[in-house]
Amino acid sequence: MSSSKGAASNPAVEALLARARARRASANTNDATTSDAIEAAVPTAAPAPGDIPESSYLIEQFDTYQALKLQKVLADQAGLENPFFRMHESVASATSVIDGEEILNFATYNYADLNGHPAVAAAAIDAIRRYGVSASASRLVSGERPPHRALEQGLADFYGVDDAVVLVSGHATNVTTISTLLGPRDLIVHDRLIHNSIYEGARLSGAQRRAVAHNDWRAIDALLARERSRFEKVLIVVEGVYSMDGDIAPLDKLIEVKKKHKALLMVDEAHALGVLGRTGKGAAEHFGVDPKDVDIWMGTLSKTLSGCGGYIAGCFELVELMKLTAPGFVFSVGMPPGIAAASAKALEILQEEPERVSALQANGRLFVELAKAAGLDVGRSAGYSVVPIIVGGSALAARLSTALGKRGLNVQPITYPAVEEGEARLRFFVTSAHTSQQIKQAVQTVAETLAELKASHGDG
Ligand code: PMP
Repeated sequence: MSSSKGAASNPAVEALLARARARRASANTNDATTSDAIEAAVPTAAPAPGDIPESSYLIEQFDTYQALKLQKVLADQAGLENPFFRMHESVASATSVIDGEEILNFATYNYADLNGHPAVAAAAIDAIRRYGVSASASRLVSGERPPHRALEQGLADFYGVDDAVVLVSGHATNVTTISTLLGPRDLIVHDRLIHNSIYEGARLSGAQRRAVAHNDWRAIDALLARERSRFEKVLIVVEGVYSMDGDIAPLDKLIEVKKKHKALLMVDEAHALGVLGRTGKGAAEHFGVDPKDVDIWMGTLSKTLSGCGGYIAGCFELVELMKLTAPGFVFSVGMPPGIAAASAKALEILQEEPERVSALQANGRLFVELAKAAGLDVGRSAGYSVVPIIVGGSALAARLSTALGKRGLNVQPITYPAVEEGEARLRFFVTSAHTSQQIKQAVQTVAETLAELKASHGDG
């Protein structure tokens, strides 16, 4: 993105700012619920066609699009480059290639370094040769391919539960699972820092939703003591390792709470499978609890398992219900056989080579130790797959990411609204493939670059 100097005096920018201010003002004065607000905003008498504003039918005039445009103008004005959508020219692992240069990479979920593993690639290629690239329809219609069942059986065995089902998107897995299992007479209690896909699933379900303070199992207990009896089903949803903060849900306590209140418990293990526990079996292994005490294990294939899609693992009845009624499974194409075969192979290698899990864990610990010693703020990170370095303002985080990119270190900023303003950060994904030297170099480069930027631009 180029810098557009003098944009503040530009009438187009003034107009964008005025619209944004008006939008904010109307949002602030409106303390009704969202559906009340929509009802209030919908006029009772139909306007004449000539009176319908362009913002109702031209996408470029949508408020949401105008907000994006404003953000881009302000970023250009501040001289910020776009840190997203960087083009990688090789398999992204501990290192990658960007613009023909090898860089140190902390922006990829390749936690156990299995994406790019020759046996994983070979399994995908073999499955594509046998079964084609696509599953060519929903599995109900177009049928199964052996890699589907191999992966699902492998996941069920790994978790120690009855069965599993895989879907083509991790995000859609949460949306469709939650909205299939819960409805308007139910309650969903989730951690305040829960992933967007869970939030979207909860919205779609029509259930009531309560966000509770981060990792506060006592708050869940108190909430359910007050409110459990008003609802039919209650679902508690947490993440094994939190995607923005890298800390761990207190699974042992949550199991006690869910049993006490006869609720269901769902754990999203996107960043925990292959990461937590001595052999990477996730939160259940980490806490030494019975995996069957969690009703719904969810995870993604896009991280440790170097594929794409999501899984649900649990009792036979859960999997049967998903396979026969979840719209995201029933009305969506089956997983491409090559991806299923790749993830099944990755899961096999993970079990044969648990040293990948211990290497990742040692690397996460080392990263956090060194970062703290360098005076960097790693927030709540427990030192596993995700380590944030919290810097404060969104502009500083974006500027830092760009400056580090120029110094051969690829790491993405997480800015408002993904996290609260003032808590913008760089998010490091630590893998089993990083060397101690690479971690030391990364921490040192961040500490030096951050100090330089703060000296020249302040904390904002
Ligand atoms: N759950 C969590 C906790 C995530 O962080 C993500 C995205 N990384 C998802 C679900 C969605 O997974 P996917 O990107 O594989 O669709």
